[in-house]
Amino acid sequence: MKLGETIQSADWKKEKHVPVIECPDAVAANEPFMVQVSVGKEIPHPNTTEHHIRWIDVYFKPEGDKFIYQVAHVEFSAHGESVKGANEGPAYTNPSATFSMKVMGAGTLVALSLCNIHGLWESSKEITV
Ligand code: FE
Repeated sequence: MKLGETIQSADWKKEKHVPVIECPDAVAANEPFMVQVSVGKEIPHPNTTEHHIRWIDVYFKPEGDKFIYQVAHVEFSAHGESVKGANEGPAYTNPSATFSMKVMGAGTLVALSLCNIHGLWESSKEITV
């Protein structure tokens, strides 16, 4: 089998695991723009010690290029762990992050998220220049 065969995809408005990419539809070449990636925008995903989103990766696939390029990796590290026990901790990282990037030409952003018990999920958004 191949890893790609295990990556799930769906409409983020109906499936809480699907990463949501928010950024301009069109940007200028070589000019920074903001990108927000999150999981659970419409239907919140649980954030407990036993069940949470571990990380989101973002890749850029330039139009006509064979390869993808990783542009961000965000780790969500706190999920209620504590010496008192699971879900007794003082901090929780929410599965959302904002970063700045720039591109030299058109392409597609691809987000990949990992739920610790429900595996890998992907979504994509085209960017024109
Ligand atoms: Fe899950």
